[in-house]
Order: sequence, then C-alpha cells, then structure tokens
Amino acid sequence: MHPASANAARPARRPTTSREVVVTAREQITEHMLRLTLGGDDDLAPVVHGTPGSWVKLFVPDPGDPSRAGEHGRAYTVRGFNPISNEIDIDVFLHDGGTMPRWAESCAVGETARVGGPRPSGAPGRDAASMLLFGDETSMPAIAAILERERGHRPIHAWIELADDADRQEITLSRGAGITWLRREPAAPGTALLEAAAQQRPEPGTGVWFAAEAGAAQRFRGLVRGLDLADLHVQGYWRAGVGDYRE
Ligand SMILES: Cc1cc2nc3c(=O)[nH]c(=O)nc-3n(C[C@H](O)[C@H](O)[C@H](O)COP(=O)(O)OP(=O)(O)OC[C@H]3O[C@@H](n4cnc5c(N)ncnc54)[C@H](O)[C@@H]3O)c2cc1C
Repeated sequence: MHPASANAARPARRPTTSREVVVTAREQITEHMLRLTLGGDDDLAPVVHGTPGSWVKLFVPDPGDPSRAGEHGRAYTVRGFNPISNEIDIDVFLHDGGTMPRWAESCAVGETARVGGPRPSGAPGRDAASMLLFGDETSMPAIAAILERERGHRPIHAWIELADDADRQEITLSRGAGITWLRREPAAPGTALLEAAAQQRPEPGTGVWFAAEAGAAQRFRGLVRGLDLADLHVQGYWRAGVGDYRE
C-alpha cells in the first residue's frame, strides 16, 4: 500500500468545451436545495465526465452587468445525466447572499445559460477496500452520486453536515453503505465534520474523500496527514467570506 497524496485519485483532465443550455425543469427538492434540469439542442455528452460527482462550470448572466454581456460562472456537480433526453440535473444550494442561488430561484423554464466541462471529480478509487466520505450541502450532490454508483462490495460511510435538518435527502444505499447526518454550528462550517473525522481510525487501504468549506478542508488535511490510505481527495468547495473561491 502506498502512502496517499492529496488528490491522488483525481483523473486526468480532458480539454473542456462549452455548450448553451436551456432550463427544462425546476424542482425544489428540499428546503434549501433547488434542482435545475438543463437541456437543449447542443449535445451535452462532451461536457459530462463519467466519474460520479464530476462537475461543470455553470455560467449565467451576471446580474451586476446591466449590458447582460457578462457572465457569472461557478462550479456545480452533475447530479444526473440522461443521454437519451440530453439533460443534466444540477442541485443548487440556496445559501444566503449567493448570486447563483438568486439566479436559480428566479430563472424560468426556457431561460438559457451555458455549461463548460468535462471536469472530473476526484472520485474515490476503485481499489480502496473501504471508503469514508465527508461533505456538506454543496458536496451532497457528489456524495449522493458516489453512493448510488457503489455495488455493495465494500463498506462506505458518509458524514454530511447540514445547517438545517430539512435539507436531508433520501439517498439510495447499497449493502454496507451508511450516512451520518451532522448539524452545523452556525459560526463554524465544517467543525462537526472535523469532529466526526477525528473519531475515525481508518484501516490501511481505506479511501477518504472530503469536500466542504475551504478552511475546514485545510484543517482536515492536517488530520489525515501521514495515514496509510488507498487514496485521498480533499477539496474546498467554497470559502466563507470569499466569492468565486477556487483551489
Ligand atoms: C467541484 C465543485 C462542485 C460543486 N458542486 C456544487 C453543487 O452541486 N451544488 C452547490 O450548491 N454548490 C456546489 N459547489 C459550491 C459552489 O460552487 C459555491 O458555493 C459557489 O461559491 C456558489 O456561487 P455563488 O454565486 O452562490 O456565490 P459566490 O459569488 O461564489 O460567493 C458569494 C458569497 O457567498 C458565500 N458562499 C458561497 N457558497 C456558500 C455556501 N455553500 N454557504 C454559505 N455561504 C456561501 C461566499 O463565501 C461569498 O461570501 C461546488 C464547488 C466545487 C468546487
């Protein structure tokens, strides 16, 4: 077993391309989660990466640009892709003060946007004997996609930190899979995840995947440093107080 390095499981990037999309459906799936279905005439297969939890960059008209020529682009997980209907589902977490949530809440069926991809996810490696996943509202779509692709051949457990219990989702679980729901301390995103992670003693050969607030991701790296893991993916999906955060 080789010592894992951060992002070791991340697949190679293919050149990205962009496609115009049309909002074909909207569904409020939980209190703060809005599912948008995006389709249109352009073939979306080239912008979707096959790994569960892969993502696209969603570009919408920049509300701060009165000419409407500018775009606001952010990363969103492909929650589902239907190649027959040529549609992707994206779950937008409606956090306070966000531009993308504001657009998502106000957009109508028929409205256009743009997606760029494919972008792989750093999905948990096939070779890990067991998997530990840690995330929050923004990575719940990725965690759900990962859990739904498991075949019941290894133990896999997810810890998901939410600000509001009303955002829990029904996620299909294979044999050996489980979820622990954690409640967020308002002032400290990721703290409950770090506390849960600190109680785990991963066996050699375990794979670990973490995606949540960037400060918590940084502290998480300290927790797993030196462990003999099959693979490790740690990513900040957003940073408190910083717009358009990227790693
Ligand atoms: C690979 C990847 C996949 C992602 N997948 C998803 C997904 O499927 N669904 C999803 O909802 N998000 C997802 N995110 C997170 C999303 O891209 C960010 O939350 C993004 O900042 C949202 O853009 P915005 O326009 O709302 O806010 P921004 O303009 O980027 O930021 C404005 C303010 O909002 C704050 N903010 C941003 N996100 C949050 C949050 N979650 N909670 C509280 N405050 C926040 C910022 O700190 C900033 O102060 C993903 C991120 C990455 C990197």
